[in-house]
Amino acid sequence: MKIAIIGTGYVGLVTGVCLANLGNSVICYDIDKSKIKQLQAGKIPIYESGMKKLLKKLNASKNIVFTNNPEKTIKGSEIIFIAVGTPQQKNGVVDLSFVKNAARTIGKFSNSYTVIVNKSTVPVGTAILVKKIISCYNKNFDIVSNPEFLKEGSAIEDFANPERIIIGAESRKARKIINKLYRSFNCPVLNTSLETAEMIKYASNAFLATKISFINEIANVCEKVNADVETVARGMGLDSRIGSSFLKAGIGYGGSCFPKDIKALHNIALSNNYRFKLLKAVIQVNNDQKRSLVKKTKSILKNLNNKKICLWGLAFKPNTDDFRESAAIDLIKLFQKENVTINAYDPKINYEEFVNKNNFKNKINFYSDKYDALKNCDILLIVTEWNEFKKADLEKIKILLKKPIVIDGRNIYEDNKMKKLGFRYLSVGR
Ligand code: NAD
Repeated sequence: MKIAIIGTGYVGLVTGVCLANLGNSVICYDIDKSKIKQLQAGKIPIYESGMKKLLKKLNASKNIVFTNNPEKTIKGSEIIFIAVGTPQQKNGVVDLSFVKNAARTIGKFSNSYTVIVNKSTVPVGTAILVKKIISCYNKNFDIVSNPEFLKEGSAIEDFANPERIIIGAESRKARKIINKLYRSFNCPVLNTSLETAEMIKYASNAFLATKISFINEIANVCEKVNADVETVARGMGLDSRIGSSFLKAGIGYGGSCFPKDIKALHNIALSNNYRFKLLKAVIQVNNDQKRSLVKKTKSILKNLNNKKICLWGLAFKPNTDDFRESAAIDLIKLFQKENVTINAYDPKINYEEFVNKNNFKNKINFYSDKYDALKNCDILLIVTEWNEFKKADLEKIKILLKKPIVIDGRNIYEDNKMKKLGFRYLSVGR
């Protein structure tokens, strides 16, 4: 099939690459010219495992092209995916300006029957809004809502082997075309209305965030009653009604999806005169959880003024270079308020971009070697659970820090082992 992708970010690029790999002819469009230039030169603007290899193979087969020409993208495409960002505005309401602009571009240039598929995470009612915008230009199209559930870090694997595919549609013709597109996928396909499809995505993310905040609350009680949250989570997860995933205590969820989607759902409910009390608590618990690392640091160092702290991990989770809403950003800001010097290391983050996109009060010292970052620091904080931190040389950490103090926001080390090695070691819920 001839497929166009509007927005070549994490979701758009993975969607384009995976659909091209299935033998479709894909054209990816983005308004960001530098991103397209990089992709045309065979460079990948994001870090995502397996992407480099797959793109090299596809470039050779010419199944995928990258462009910033909207007309070339849209004219003649049978299916057009919208995969642009839907960030939150300051008041927590979803910013739909990128989606609306994408709809206008599609309307202006489409010249034959097309199925417009929305992959972006959007408030209920957005598919109808997109339909209205495009209808101002042309009426020969149908709209489908097909939310995406991939996870950064395993995005290609997730897209290629989804646990379910949700297809929300009004028209039988469009539903048939999208079902055909996905016919080789071996998973349940749920055909729904547009609104239900849009809601499934928010409900899924909200439920996962609720599990995280729940286990974090349990962790906080565990700390008070001398129980071990890791074993508690294992014991809970063995119950098939509960399941073991998303029961990892830590410093809370971050990233480009959960924080904004949970707030968006809370706001959607509110604007429909419903107070989603549970979600309000989920958000509150998550905010408090990030601050708990600062509290623990204070409990050990007492006065933070002029102290030097080493942060390992800036990405919101391992195996990605995405730092949107990562816990590290909040932590650095909180520590800088207390006049703390920050040394930081992350294996994949673009440090320049990290600084440019966040409004930090003071300079951060960035390192390309995790051990160099430790030198002369009063404490090490584990913020992201990268594998290389799990395998780090603990004796070396001990020698390089001023005193052997580690505060672990992700529970990556064994409590007993750290204490035996002579560390002052604080983790979450143990
Ligand atoms: P992103 O910011 O990485 O990419 C969005 C891209 O769209 C950018 O490259 C931007 O330049 C481009 N863009 C914006 N307006 C455009 C326009 N009018 N025309 C063409 N391109 C335009 O965002 P993302 O992480 O890929 O997320 C996209 C959507 O998918 C969001 O709604 C997000 O919530 C949802 N989602 C994301 C993930 C994830 O893990 N990142 C997972 C599932 C769903």
